[in-house]
Amino acid sequence: MKIKHLEMKVDKVLKKDGIKDIVDPVRLGRDGKFTFRCHPGVTCFTRCCRNMNIILTPYDIIRIKDRLGLSSDMFLQLYAQPEILKETGIPVARLKMLDHEKGRCPFVSGSGCQIYSDRPVCCRYYPIGMASLHQQGRNSDREEEFFFIVRENHCKGFQEPVDWTVDSWRADQEADLYDSMNRGWMELMLRKRSFGPDTEMPEKARRLFYMVTTNMEKFRHFIFESRFLDTYEVDEQTLKEILNDDTALMKFGFEYLKYSIFGAETPAIRLKKAVLDKTINKILKNRRKKQKKGAMLNK
Ligand code: SF4
Ligand code: SF4
Repeated sequence: MKIKHLEMKVDKVLKKDGIKDIVDPVRLGRDGKFTFRCHPGVTCFTRCCRNMNIILTPYDIIRIKDRLGLSSDMFLQLYAQPEILKETGIPVARLKMLDHEKGRCPFVSGSGCQIYSDRPVCCRYYPIGMASLHQQGRNSDREEEFFFIVRENHCKGFQEPVDWTVDSWRADQEADLYDSMNRGWMELMLRKRSFGPDTEMPEKARRLFYMVTTNMEKFRHFIFESRFLDTYEVDEQTLKEILNDDTALMKFGFEYLKYSIFGAETPAIRLKKAVLDKTINKILKNRRKKQKKGAMLNK
Protein backbone atom coordinates (compact mmCIF):
# COMPACT_ATOMS: atom_id res chain seq x y z
CA MET A 1 0.00 0.00 0.00
CA LYS A 2 1.39 3.42 -0.91
CA ILE A 3 1.95 6.00 1.85
CA LYS A 4 -0.69 8.29 0.35
CA HIS A 5 -3.33 5.59 0.52
CA LEU A 6 -2.26 4.75 4.05
CA GLU A 7 -2.73 8.37 5.12
CA MET A 8 -6.14 8.57 3.47
CA LYS A 9 -7.16 5.46 5.37
CA VAL A 10 -5.96 6.88 8.70
CA ASP A 11 -7.78 10.12 7.95
CA LYS A 12 -10.98 8.19 7.35
CA VAL A 13 -10.66 6.27 10.63
CA LEU A 14 -9.99 9.44 12.63
CA LYS A 15 -12.88 11.31 10.99
CA LYS A 16 -15.22 8.43 11.68
CA ASP A 17 -14.37 8.47 15.38
CA GLY A 18 -14.73 12.25 15.59
CA ILE A 19 -11.24 12.70 16.99
CA LYS A 20 -9.58 14.30 13.98
CA ASP A 21 -9.36 17.73 15.61
CA ILE A 22 -7.35 16.47 18.57
CA VAL A 23 -5.02 14.12 16.75
CA ASP A 24 -1.77 15.38 15.25
CA PRO A 25 -1.90 14.35 11.59
CA VAL A 26 1.63 13.00 11.89
CA ARG A 27 2.47 9.35 11.98
CA LEU A 28 5.24 8.52 14.41
CA GLY A 29 7.54 5.54 14.49
CA ARG A 30 9.00 4.17 17.71
CA ASP A 31 11.75 6.81 17.59
CA GLY A 32 9.23 9.65 16.96
CA LYS A 33 9.77 12.58 19.37
CA PHE A 34 7.41 14.71 21.49
CA THR A 35 7.52 16.79 24.67
CA PHE A 36 5.14 16.13 27.56
CA ARG A 37 4.90 15.88 31.33
CA CYS A 38 1.89 15.38 33.55
CA HIS A 39 2.45 16.36 37.20
CA PRO A 40 0.63 18.04 40.10
CA GLY A 41 2.05 21.45 39.07
CA VAL A 42 0.07 21.72 35.80
CA THR A 43 -3.07 23.87 36.03
CA CYS A 44 -5.17 21.12 34.42
CA PHE A 45 -4.05 18.45 36.91
CA THR A 46 -6.67 15.62 37.19
CA ARG A 47 -9.13 17.55 35.00
CA CYS A 48 -8.98 14.82 32.36
CA CYS A 49 -9.95 12.08 34.86
CA ARG A 50 -13.68 12.50 34.35
CA ASN A 51 -16.29 11.38 31.84
CA MET A 52 -13.82 8.95 30.34
CA ASN A 53 -14.92 5.93 28.38
CA ILE A 54 -12.54 3.36 29.87
CA ILE A 55 -12.95 -0.23 28.73
CA LEU A 56 -11.18 -2.40 31.28
CA THR A 57 -9.07 -5.21 29.88
CA PRO A 58 -8.99 -8.53 31.78
CA TYR A 59 -5.48 -7.65 33.03
CA ASP A 60 -6.64 -4.17 34.16
CA ILE A 61 -9.30 -5.85 36.29
CA ILE A 62 -6.83 -8.26 37.90
CA ARG A 63 -4.37 -5.44 38.72
CA ILE A 64 -6.98 -3.06 40.15
CA LYS A 65 -9.02 -5.57 42.17
CA ASP A 66 -5.77 -6.89 43.70
CA ARG A 67 -4.65 -3.34 44.44
CA LEU A 68 -7.96 -2.66 46.22
CA GLY A 69 -7.99 -6.08 47.95
CA LEU A 70 -11.38 -6.95 46.42
CA SER A 71 -12.79 -10.09 44.85
CA SER A 72 -13.62 -9.78 41.14
CA ASP A 73 -17.32 -9.99 42.01
CA MET A 74 -17.10 -7.09 44.43
CA PHE A 75 -14.93 -5.03 42.08
CA LEU A 76 -17.34 -5.53 39.17
CA GLN A 77 -20.33 -4.61 41.32
CA LEU A 78 -18.74 -1.45 42.66
CA TYR A 79 -16.77 -0.14 39.71
CA ALA A 80 -17.84 -1.70 36.42
CA GLN A 81 -20.70 -1.59 33.98
CA PRO A 82 -21.15 -4.50 31.53
CA GLU A 83 -21.52 -3.42 27.94
CA ILE A 84 -21.59 -4.95 24.45
CA LEU A 85 -18.98 -3.37 22.18
CA LYS A 86 -20.73 -2.03 19.09
CA GLU A 87 -17.93 -2.80 16.63
CA THR A 88 -17.43 -6.42 17.64
CA GLY A 89 -20.50 -7.51 19.65
CA ILE A 90 -18.11 -8.61 22.42
CA PRO A 91 -19.13 -8.15 26.09
CA VAL A 92 -16.75 -5.96 28.09
CA ALA A 93 -16.60 -4.17 31.45
CA ARG A 94 -16.52 -0.36 31.40
CA LEU A 95 -15.21 1.61 34.38
CA LYS A 96 -18.20 3.40 35.99
CA MET A 97 -17.70 7.15 36.31
CA LEU A 98 -19.46 8.90 39.21
CA ASP A 99 -22.39 10.59 37.47
CA HIS A 100 -23.49 12.35 40.65
CA GLU A 101 -20.02 13.92 40.91
CA LYS A 102 -19.81 15.42 37.41
CA GLY A 103 -18.53 12.19 35.90
CA ARG A 104 -15.45 11.98 38.15
CA CYS A 105 -13.40 8.78 37.94
CA PRO A 106 -13.87 6.90 41.22
CA PHE A 107 -10.08 6.68 41.62
CA VAL A 108 -9.14 10.33 41.26
CA SER A 109 -8.46 12.60 44.23
CA GLY A 110 -6.96 16.07 44.59
CA SER A 111 -3.49 14.53 44.72
CA GLY A 112 -3.94 12.47 41.55
CA CYS A 113 -4.76 8.89 40.63
CA GLN A 114 -5.09 6.75 43.75
CA ILE A 115 -4.26 3.55 41.86
CA TYR A 116 -1.53 5.11 39.70
CA SER A 117 0.85 2.12 39.49
CA ASP A 118 -2.12 -0.14 38.60
CA ARG A 119 -4.10 2.30 36.43
CA PRO A 120 -5.89 0.92 33.34
CA VAL A 121 -4.03 0.57 30.09
CA CYS A 122 -5.85 3.41 28.34
CA CYS A 123 -4.77 5.86 31.07
CA ARG A 124 -1.17 4.73 30.58
CA TYR A 125 -0.72 5.30 26.86
CA TYR A 126 -2.16 8.83 26.76
CA PRO A 127 -1.10 11.02 24.92
CA ILE A 128 0.15 8.35 22.49
CA GLY A 129 -2.34 6.53 20.31
CA MET A 130 -1.44 3.37 18.45
CA ALA A 131 -2.91 2.13 15.20
CA SER A 132 -2.19 -0.72 12.89
CA LEU A 133 -3.16 -1.16 9.30
CA HIS A 134 -3.43 -4.41 7.46
CA GLN A 135 -1.22 -4.34 4.39
CA GLN A 136 -1.68 -6.71 1.49
CA GLY A 137 1.50 -7.14 -0.46
CA ARG A 138 2.21 -9.33 -3.42
CA ASN A 139 3.90 -11.98 -1.29
CA SER A 140 2.63 -11.44 2.22
CA ASP A 141 -0.01 -9.89 4.44
CA ARG A 142 1.34 -7.89 7.35
CA GLU A 143 0.25 -5.33 9.92
CA GLU A 144 1.83 -1.85 9.74
CA GLU A 145 2.00 -0.39 13.24
CA PHE A 146 2.36 3.32 13.89
CA PHE A 147 1.71 5.90 16.58
CA PHE A 148 0.16 9.36 16.76
CA ILE A 149 -0.23 12.10 19.35
CA VAL A 150 -3.62 12.86 20.90
CA ARG A 151 -3.29 16.60 21.58
CA GLU A 152 -6.26 17.96 23.47
CA ASN A 153 -6.48 21.73 23.96
CA HIS A 154 -7.11 21.55 27.69
CA CYS A 155 -3.99 19.43 28.29
CA LYS A 156 -1.11 21.64 29.47
CA GLY A 157 1.27 18.67 29.65
CA PHE A 158 2.47 19.49 26.12
CA GLN A 159 3.91 22.80 27.35
CA GLU A 160 6.25 21.00 29.75
CA PRO A 161 9.80 20.67 28.37
CA VAL A 162 10.40 16.97 28.95
CA ASP A 163 11.53 15.06 25.85
CA TRP A 164 10.33 11.59 24.96
CA THR A 165 10.47 9.18 22.09
CA VAL A 166 7.52 6.85 21.57
CA ASP A 167 9.73 4.01 22.82
CA SER A 168 10.95 5.76 25.98
CA TRP A 169 7.34 6.75 26.79
CA ARG A 170 6.13 3.19 26.29
CA ALA A 171 8.90 1.85 28.56
CA ASP A 172 7.97 4.41 31.25
CA GLN A 173 4.32 3.32 31.07
CA GLU A 174 5.03 -0.48 31.12
CA ALA A 175 3.42 -0.68 27.69
CA ASP A 176 5.20 -3.89 26.63
CA LEU A 177 3.99 -5.77 29.72
CA TYR A 178 0.41 -4.56 29.20
CA ASP A 179 0.52 -5.32 25.46
CA SER A 180 1.69 -8.86 26.12
CA MET A 181 -1.01 -9.39 28.77
CA ASN A 182 -3.75 -8.00 26.50
CA ARG A 183 -2.67 -9.75 23.30
CA GLY A 184 -4.87 -12.85 23.75
CA TRP A 185 -7.92 -10.69 24.48
CA MET A 186 -7.26 -8.48 21.45
CA GLU A 187 -6.94 -11.59 19.29
CA LEU A 188 -10.38 -12.76 20.46
CA MET A 189 -11.80 -9.37 19.42
CA LEU A 190 -10.24 -9.67 15.97
CA ARG A 191 -11.53 -13.23 15.62
CA LYS A 192 -15.06 -12.07 16.39
CA ARG A 193 -14.72 -9.13 13.99
CA SER A 194 -13.60 -11.44 11.18
CA PHE A 195 -16.99 -13.20 11.41
CA GLY A 196 -18.59 -9.92 10.26
CA PRO A 197 -20.92 -7.50 12.10
CA ASP A 198 -24.04 -9.57 11.35
CA THR A 199 -22.83 -12.68 13.14
CA GLU A 200 -24.29 -12.38 16.62
CA MET A 201 -22.66 -14.17 19.52
CA PRO A 202 -25.31 -16.38 21.20
CA GLU A 203 -26.37 -15.19 24.67
CA LYS A 204 -24.85 -18.26 26.37
CA ALA A 205 -21.49 -17.61 24.68
CA ARG A 206 -21.63 -13.93 25.66
CA ARG A 207 -22.18 -14.82 29.30
CA LEU A 208 -19.31 -17.27 29.20
CA PHE A 209 -17.04 -14.73 27.50
CA TYR A 210 -17.84 -12.04 30.10
CA MET A 211 -17.28 -14.40 33.03
CA VAL A 212 -13.96 -15.74 31.70
CA THR A 213 -12.57 -12.28 30.86
CA THR A 214 -13.68 -10.39 33.98
CA ASN A 215 -14.08 -12.73 36.94
CA MET A 216 -11.13 -14.97 37.77
CA GLU A 217 -12.63 -16.44 40.96
CA LYS A 218 -15.81 -17.47 39.15
CA PHE A 219 -13.85 -18.91 36.22
CA ARG A 220 -11.61 -20.88 38.62
CA HIS A 221 -14.69 -22.24 40.38
CA PHE A 222 -16.14 -23.18 36.98
CA ILE A 223 -13.00 -25.18 36.14
CA PHE A 224 -12.43 -26.93 39.45
CA GLU A 225 -15.93 -27.26 40.87
CA SER A 226 -18.03 -28.15 37.82
CA ARG A 227 -17.84 -30.99 35.26
CA PHE A 228 -15.28 -29.00 33.25
CA LEU A 229 -12.42 -31.43 33.95
CA ASP A 230 -14.63 -34.41 33.06
CA THR A 231 -15.12 -32.82 29.65
CA TYR A 232 -11.75 -31.26 28.81
CA GLU A 233 -8.18 -32.50 28.89
CA VAL A 234 -5.84 -29.97 30.54
CA ASP A 235 -2.24 -30.86 31.43
CA GLU A 236 -1.15 -31.14 35.09
CA GLN A 237 1.33 -28.25 34.89
CA THR A 238 -1.34 -25.84 33.58
CA LEU A 239 -3.78 -26.95 36.28
CA LYS A 240 -1.15 -26.27 38.97
CA GLU A 241 -0.46 -22.80 37.53
CA ILE A 242 -4.07 -21.68 37.17
CA LEU A 243 -5.06 -22.89 40.64
CA ASN A 244 -3.53 -19.87 42.38
CA ASP A 245 -2.29 -17.49 39.70
CA ASP A 246 -4.88 -15.13 38.17
CA THR A 247 -2.64 -14.07 35.30
CA ALA A 248 -1.98 -17.68 34.26
CA LEU A 249 -5.73 -18.35 34.56
CA MET A 250 -6.53 -15.30 32.41
CA LYS A 251 -4.19 -16.53 29.65
CA PHE A 252 -5.67 -20.02 29.86
CA GLY A 253 -9.12 -18.38 29.61
CA PHE A 254 -8.19 -16.76 26.29
CA GLU A 255 -7.21 -20.19 24.92
CA TYR A 256 -10.38 -21.78 26.27
CA LEU A 257 -12.59 -19.11 24.62
CA LYS A 258 -10.66 -19.43 21.37
CA TYR A 259 -11.40 -23.16 21.43
CA SER A 260 -14.94 -23.27 22.82
CA ILE A 261 -16.48 -20.19 21.14
CA PHE A 262 -14.45 -19.78 17.97
CA GLY A 263 -13.63 -23.45 17.31
CA ALA A 264 -9.87 -22.83 16.94
CA GLU A 265 -7.27 -25.47 17.77
CA THR A 266 -5.02 -24.81 20.76
CA PRO A 267 -2.48 -27.02 22.55
CA ALA A 268 -3.78 -25.73 25.92
CA ILE A 269 -7.05 -27.65 25.94
CA ARG A 270 -8.97 -30.35 24.10
CA LEU A 271 -12.08 -32.50 24.54
CA LYS A 272 -11.51 -35.81 26.35
CA LYS A 273 -11.47 -38.78 23.99
CA ALA A 274 -14.58 -40.37 25.50
CA VAL A 275 -16.49 -37.05 25.21
CA LEU A 276 -15.23 -36.55 21.66
CA ASP A 277 -16.31 -40.09 20.64
CA LYS A 278 -19.73 -39.55 22.21
CA THR A 279 -20.14 -36.21 20.38
CA ILE A 280 -19.11 -37.74 17.03
CA ASN A 281 -21.52 -40.66 17.52
CA LYS A 282 -24.32 -38.24 18.29
CA ILE A 283 -23.60 -36.21 15.13
CA LEU A 284 -23.47 -39.38 13.00
CA LYS A 285 -26.71 -40.66 14.53
CA ASN A 286 -28.47 -37.34 13.78
CA ARG A 287 -27.11 -37.35 10.25
CA ARG A 288 -28.34 -40.92 9.62
CA LYS A 289 -31.76 -39.97 11.02
CA LYS A 290 -31.98 -37.00 8.63
CA GLN A 291 -30.89 -39.10 5.65
CA LYS A 292 -33.51 -41.73 6.49
CA LYS A 293 -36.21 -39.05 6.79
CA GLY A 294 -35.13 -37.51 3.45
CA ALA A 295 -35.22 -40.92 1.75
CA MET A 296 -38.73 -41.61 3.05
CA LEU A 297 -40.01 -38.22 1.79
CA ASN A 298 -38.53 -38.87 -1.67
CA LYS A 299 -40.32 -42.21 -2.02
S1 SF4 B 1 -7.87 5.41 36.67
FE1 SF4 B 1 -6.53 7.01 37.45
S2 SF4 B 1 -5.55 7.89 35.64
FE2 SF4 B 1 -7.32 6.72 34.95
S3 SF4 B 1 -9.01 8.19 34.83
FE3 SF4 B 1 -9.10 7.26 36.85
S4 SF4 B 1 -7.91 8.59 38.17
FE4 SF4 B 1 -7.40 9.14 36.08
S1 SF4 C 1 -4.96 17.15 30.96
FE1 SF4 C 1 -2.89 16.43 30.42
S2 SF4 C 1 -1.46 17.43 31.80
FE2 SF4 C 1 -3.53 17.77 32.60
S3 SF4 C 1 -3.77 16.13 34.07
FE3 SF4 C 1 -4.59 15.34 32.18
S4 SF4 C 1 -2.87 14.31 31.15
FE4 SF4 C 1 -2.03 15.58 32.82
